[in-house]
This record gives sequence, C-alpha cells and structure tokens, in this order.
Amino acid sequence: MRLLVVEDDKDLNRQIVTALENAGYAVDKAFDGEEGLYLGETEPYDAVILDLGLPKVDGVAVLQGWRRAGKTMPVLILTARDRWSDKVGGFDAGADDYVVKPFHVEELLARVRALLRRAAGHATSELVCGPVRLDTRASRVVVDGNPVKLTSHEYRLLSYLMHHQGRVVSRTELVEHLYDQDFDRDSNTIEVFVGRLRKKLGVEIIETVRGLGYIAAAPEKV
Ligand code: CA
Repeated sequence: MRLLVVEDDKDLNRQIVTALENAGYAVDKAFDGEEGLYLGETEPYDAVILDLGLPKVDGVAVLQGWRRAGKTMPVLILTARDRWSDKVGGFDAGADDYVVKPFHVEELLARVRALLRRAAGHATSELVCGPVRLDTRASRVVVDGNPVKLTSHEYRLLSYLMHHQGRVVSRTELVEHLYDQDFDRDSNTIEVFVGRLRKKLGVEIIETVRGLGYIAAAPEKV
C-alpha cells in the first residue's frame, strides 16, 4: 500500500511518515499544497493524509482539485481543534475521515487501516484467503495457524494482493503501489518477491496469470 502525507509542519510530517513506514506502508511526502496537489494527481496512492492549513494551495482546494480530476483514493484530513467549519468544508470537498490535532499516532494508523480496507471492500482488520490470515493491525501473517515471518517488502506485496483478492493485479500496478517515489523501481524484482513469498507461505494462494499479472485466491478444495 502506498500513501501520501501532505503536511507543512516538518516535525509532524516526519513523525507521521515514520509511523506509517514502520507500519509497513510505502510513503511519499509533500510539504505544501502545490506539491501535494501535483503528486495526488499524478501518482496512484491507496490513501492520503492531508493537512488543511497548507502554504501555496490550502487543503480543501487540493482535495477539490483531486476530486475534479477524478481521483477517488480515500483522503483523511488533519484539522485544528474546534474548527468544525473546517471539517464540514473538508467532507464537502470529498474527505473520507478526519483526525483533530493534536492526535495520537495510533489513532491515525487505525483510521488509515480502516480507510484502506473499506476502499477494498473489507469489513474487518483481518484478511483471509484460504489458509492464510493477514492481520492488518499487527502486520502479522499466519498460515494454518502458524506464524510466518515476512520482510516488510513481502508483507506489503501479500497485503496488497489480499486487499484485492480475486482480481488480477498487474506487475506495473504492484510496482506503483508497493514502492515510494524515491525507490529505484524495477518490475523484475516483483517476480523475485512473489517467488520468495510463495516459498514462505508454503500454500498456493498467489497465481500467475500469464501476460497479465498475479491474483490472490483461496486454493480449490479437493
Ligand atoms: Ca498546517
């Protein structure tokens, strides 16, 4: 899952980005509305954290710009305490959720998880595909009840495929959603990661669809 954080307060930006990266997401960052607007229009994010009080272009205008451009990713807005009019303006502009500053980073993480799974049509924080269970709260994976240790890249890959299970996901889409902007992207490495992931899981839930990509699906019962 790839996220964008738009926040002009450098310390807060760093704090949010660090927490999200530690939780296993690929994260891009912007420090003003202009940069944020551009990134959100041009890059495929799974969710965005957007401050409303931003230099150059304010948050509500940024959000309106994305929605006008047809961008539907979930957006969580950060608002100042007691500014109820900000929240109303934010929701009217197309926000999906909000957090009031100052906030606990754990609350932000929980809301981001909820936005991501709702966007993918899942009601709970645990994703299940055949014998594989992925707990998005603890970033843990178990197969037939046994914990499997994955690297953060492998976890991200599995998490993306399981959020979108039953649908073919192309290599390009994976590359775009698993790595941040600064990463040296090479779609060949996806194949390597898929290979390692299959080996570690030991069950066949990731199918290769020749020429198209990959699909996560429960193995057929014998
Ligand atoms: Ca601000």
